[in-house]
This record gives sequence, C-alpha cells and structure tokens, in this order.
Amino acid sequence: MSFGCSQTDSRAVFYTLELQQGQRAAGGPEKHFSDQLKATFRKCSIPPAQLETLAGDRVEWQDVCYEGFAVFDIHYDQESDTRQLRRHTVTSVPATGPRCHMCGIVCAFDFGLRGHLRCHCPSLTS
Ligand SMILES: [Zn+2]
Repeated sequence: MSFGCSQTDSRAVFYTLELQQGQRAAGGPEKHFSDQLKATFRKCSIPPAQLETLAGDRVEWQDVCYEGFAVFDIHYDQESDTRQLRRHTVTSVPATGPRCHMCGIVCAFDFGLRGHLRCHCPSLTS
C-alpha cells in the first residue's frame, strides 16, 4: 500500500511509540493498527473521514502527504523539546535538609549531600 510517501517516511509515521510499546489507557480498549493510523493522520492534519476523497487524486494526495509529514515533523520536534525541558526542570527544591558548606545548596538527605560534594572534589570522581 502506497500513499505517495517513501517507505521510510511512512514507517516513521506509522510505527510510533504507541504501536511499538502497546500503550493504552488503563482499562481502555486495545489499540488496533487502524486506531494508530487514524491518530497518526490526525497528527499530520489529515482528517481520517476524508481519506478516500483525498486519496482519489494522486497528485493532491502526494501534496497532502508531504504537507502532513512536515506538520507531523514540526509537532514531533516541539513535543520532543517539551519533554526534554520537563525532564531537565527541577520541580521541587527541598526547603530543609543538609546544606553544602561550599555552595550553600540544600539537599534532601545526607546521602544526596555526599553525592553533591563529589562535584566539588574532581579527584573523587575519577
Ligand atoms: Zn556544593
């Protein structure tokens, strides 16, 4: 089955994490390939209800695929940046706990303070 995109592009679009890892909502219905396909089309700004109409004209379908993949790629990059920012953002800083005598940072536990002190002594890390 060809939609006018190259095989590599279609694999990148269709085999996203949800299908590979089999994620679904707790207690929700099992996701089928068609569900993944419809979700991917929505991410590409291609309405699944108009799929047959759009695919009827081969040239128009190719344009829709290229534009949809560009939209998908932009959204994927934005979501990736958001996920990375969420991972690297400190959500809660402990108010009390042992304090580093060198830089004043507050750690939640003594064990964390000992780990932190290693960054002040490069000889201990190697
Ligand atoms: Zn420190």
